[in-house]
Amino acid sequence: MKAFELARPVTLDQALAELEKDSAKRDRTKLFAGGQDLLTELKEHLVEPDKLVDLKRIPGLDRIEVQADGSLVIGCLVTLATLAEHPETRNFFSAVAEAARSIGSAQIRSQGTVGGNLNQRPRCWYYRNEQAPCLKKGGSECFAYAGLNKYNAILGGGPSYIVHPSDLAPALVAFDAEVTLRGAKGERKLSLEKFYTLPAEADVTRESVLAPDEILTHVRVPAKPGWTSTYVKFKERGSYDFALASVAVAVRATGSPRAIQDARLVLGGVAPKPWSAPKAAEALVGVDDPKNWAAAGNRAVAGAEPLAHNAYKVPLVKGLILKAMEALAKR
Ligand SMILES: Cc1cc2nc3c(=O)[nH]c(=O)nc-3n(C[C@H](O)[C@H](O)[C@H](O)COP(=O)(O)OP(=O)(O)OC[C@H]3O[C@@H](n4cnc5c(N)ncnc54)[C@H](O)[C@@H]3O)c2cc1C
Repeated sequence: MKAFELARPVTLDQALAELEKDSAKRDRTKLFAGGQDLLTELKEHLVEPDKLVDLKRIPGLDRIEVQADGSLVIGCLVTLATLAEHPETRNFFSAVAEAARSIGSAQIRSQGTVGGNLNQRPRCWYYRNEQAPCLKKGGSECFAYAGLNKYNAILGGGPSYIVHPSDLAPALVAFDAEVTLRGAKGERKLSLEKFYTLPAEADVTRESVLAPDEILTHVRVPAKPGWTSTYVKFKERGSYDFALASVAVAVRATGSPRAIQDARLVLGGVAPKPWSAPKAAEALVGVDDPKNWAAAGNRAVAGAEPLAHNAYKVPLVKGLILKAMEALAKR
């Protein structure tokens, strides 16, 4: 690991000042939260910053505020373990709590933070291999495209075929969450969905619009009275692992027999960003029955373009949607 300076600001303004000093040179200064992803990147020479800005001494960013209308405001330093066990999150934003609980191991959840999880870098093994100068690291080729692409994108890929690894992101997008980004020049708020970018839309070496001098300080999850939700994730192994594919579904259902009035459906593990599938969600509206669930599955993968080794994700996504809808029908 290359030697680096460690800044330990105690206010957000101090942290922003540290970032601003070096913002012209991207990646010379890196934010440091729980370190669960960043330290691996440093040890594997994927990033070699001159300075880390440790956010953990800044007070107030480790809290979840429940607003009067039931919306949540989650500070970036809230740990995944805290979010998974938080009573309001569990009761009213189940998909978010379930997604947090599905992440890594108990140790990772107790150190890893919400801000770090949403900003973690891809797990594609070409990106993670120091010796592979892939597109994501400023090279000229996505080696996964013609290479070992079992874990890569079937939707939204090209020219890079990474999948976004965060479990939390699809669940938060399903709840129309909004992020606050603070920079030295001010603050901006945008939907989490718009925070993420596709490789063809923006800088291929990035996954989001976060500027080098910005910190994601909070995530606001608006209250959705009358909605139920779930997060279903499929992993290759029983112990901790990233999603091969996942689905976050939120529905507003009424009556008996149950009818769905409104729905959100977002896929994880299949695209370079959380993959919102509004047409699939529309197919869920109406009678809550397996015919509509299957139609939603078909629509969710309608535009899929699998690579040589990942066509299995197409039926997998359809199956996960059925599983999620079955679970919701029992609540
Ligand atoms: C073995 C293992 C298994 C895992 N399994 C899963 C899994 O199943 N699902 C899943 O979703 N994740 C998984 N992860 C990833 C893990 O959840 C994330 O790495 C962790 O949440 C990152 O949080 P952190 O606080 O440790 O971030 P750090 O490692 O400190 O930071 C991660 C990145 O985010 C940036 N960053 C941190 N905070 C902010 C902020 N507030 N604003 C802007 N940028 C910021 C950092 O600069 C860095 O680039 C796994 C990780 C490991 C090591």
